[in-house]
Amino acid sequence: MKQMKVGVLALQGAVREHVWALQACGAETVTVKGRQDLAGLDGLVIPGGESTTVGKLLARFGLWDPIRERAQAGMGIFGTCTGMILLAGARPGESEPRLGLIDCAVVRNAFGRQIDSFETELAIPVLGDSPFPAVFIRAPYLAAPGREVEVLATLEEKIVLARQGRILACAFHPELTKDLRLHRYFLDLLLK
Ligand code: GLN
Repeated sequence: MKQMKVGVLALQGAVREHVWALQACGAETVTVKGRQDLAGLDGLVIPGGESTTVGKLLARFGLWDPIRERAQAGMGIFGTCTGMILLAGARPGESEPRLGLIDCAVVRNAFGRQIDSFETELAIPVLGDSPFPAVFIRAPYLAAPGREVEVLATLEEKIVLARQGRILACAFHPELTKDLRLHRYFLDLLLK
C-alpha cells in the first residue's frame, strides 16, 4: 500500500498527538507552518485549538487560499474541533472566515456552559460495533448538512462527525485517546 504523506497544521493546538497517531497508522508526517509545507501532501489535519486565533494565524501565514486550493485539487482534510469549525461554510451574519469545504453550518461551543469538556462512548457505525471514546472540549457541532454530506455520528441529535468526499469533520478529539480508528479511516479516505 502506498505510504500517505499527511501534514498537521502546526499553528496552535494538539499537534504532536496527531503526528503520533498518524505515524502509528503508518503515514509519513509533515508539520505545516507555511504554504511551502503543503507541497505533495495527500492529506492535512487541522487540530483543535481556538478557531478565531487559528483563523488569524492562517491569514498571517497566507494559508487560507493555498489550503482551499489544495483541497479542491484532491487533498483530504481531517479537521478536529477547531478544524471542524474552519471547514464549515460561512453563513449570513457570520464575521469569521471559513474554508467552506463541507456544506454545513457550524455552531460553536455548543454542548452546554457548565460541561465544557466530557468524554462519552460514541457510536460510529462506519468504524464498527464498538463505540469510540470521544473527548469533547468546548466542542462545536454541524447543522443543516447539504446533500453531499454523509453524517457519520450524532450526539444529542447534533452532528459530531461528518464527511464530504475526502473532507472529514470531527467535533471531538480522537488524538487524545489511544483509539486509532478515526485516523485510519481518514487515511483510507485518501486512497479512494
Ligand atoms: N471552542 C473552540 C473554538 O471555538 C474549539 C475548541 C477545541 O478545538 N477544542 O475554536
